[in-house]
Amino acid sequence: MTLRVAIVGLGKIARDQHVPSISAVEGVELTAVASRNAELPGVLNVATIDDLLAHADAFDAVALCTPPQGRHAQAWKALSAGKHVLLEKPPGATVAEIASLETLAREREVSLFATWHSRFSAAVEPARLFLAGTQIRSVRVLWKEDVRKWHPGQAWIWEPGGLGVFDPGINALSIVTAILPEPIFLDRSDLFFPANRAAPIAANLGFASPSGLSVSAEFDWRVTGGETWTVEVDTADGLLRIQNGGRLLDLDGRSMTDEPDLEYQGIYARFRDLCAARSGDVDLSPLQLVADGFLLGRRHEVEAFHEEPAR
Ligand code: NAP
Repeated sequence: MTLRVAIVGLGKIARDQHVPSISAVEGVELTAVASRNAELPGVLNVATIDDLLAHADAFDAVALCTPPQGRHAQAWKALSAGKHVLLEKPPGATVAEIASLETLAREREVSLFATWHSRFSAAVEPARLFLAGTQIRSVRVLWKEDVRKWHPGQAWIWEPGGLGVFDPGINALSIVTAILPEPIFLDRSDLFFPANRAAPIAANLGFASPSGLSVSAEFDWRVTGGETWTVEVDTADGLLRIQNGGRLLDLDGRSMTDEPDLEYQGIYARFRDLCAARSGDVDLSPLQLVADGFLLGRRHEVEAFHEEPAR
């Protein structure tokens, strides 16, 4: 049976990835959109989740592509109405709010899927398998991009709950927590807040692990002239590098992936299967590490950020 999906929040990621990926995956169909300022031809268009739920016969599942702040209320309404729910990353603005959604989903016997799109990139599974069979010496994450290029006009990312530079950085943490054979925990966090903003523009983190693994991460939104989305793992069998956010994998420079990049198609195939089984997939470890980054963070104030660079 085809899973009929309604998208809530027709913004950048919904247009770039969700809409084309739903079309490309067998057994999934887009039948409705709830967005206040945007519409899509050929489907039911309404403004809000409440309007959407007034047409409950038109869809089976909701994909929440809105900012994390306020997503809990939308998910709660959809689950209460007996709809399956897909959460864009991060799954919420706080860690604890997700537990109540998991409980509700179980009670209603519907699926709750907290997605981490980077985990569906081509490099992740081969990297995980390689690391399971070698000795890891250290891990270094470099996740740097130009905020003006990748998040133009997105006011919510600078607000509390918007995560600032952790909005992309959490993708790196979703990869690291998927590929390492043991859990990591934070032991150092330096956060760099623009004088006029509530969220960090850069962060340097250090992590430890039960076996003494050393993991470092540098997140920065202030770079121009090209992005770096890399995870480097120094192992007894060579330097494993995940690049381009998970699209490329090499060992000492030799390529180890030839799969196409189908992150969001993988997400929708998994969501279809989860909904058919009425089971859930919620892993909060990347969000927990970010929350701990704020908990342990030493605050540094840096130059104010304005959307338009000073001339
Ligand atoms: P976006 O371009 O700002 O789109 C979000 C949409 O949600 C808006 O267009 C807006 O549509 C709706 N919305 C509802 N309440 C809102 C509010 N209070 N403030 C702003 N918009 C609100 O954001 P996005 O980049 O698509 O990101 C959405 C989520 O996807 C985030 O959690 C982000 O981390 C995740 N994500 C983004 C990317 C990316 O490359 N951009 C990649 C992966 C994941 P209406 O005004 O029409 O209602």
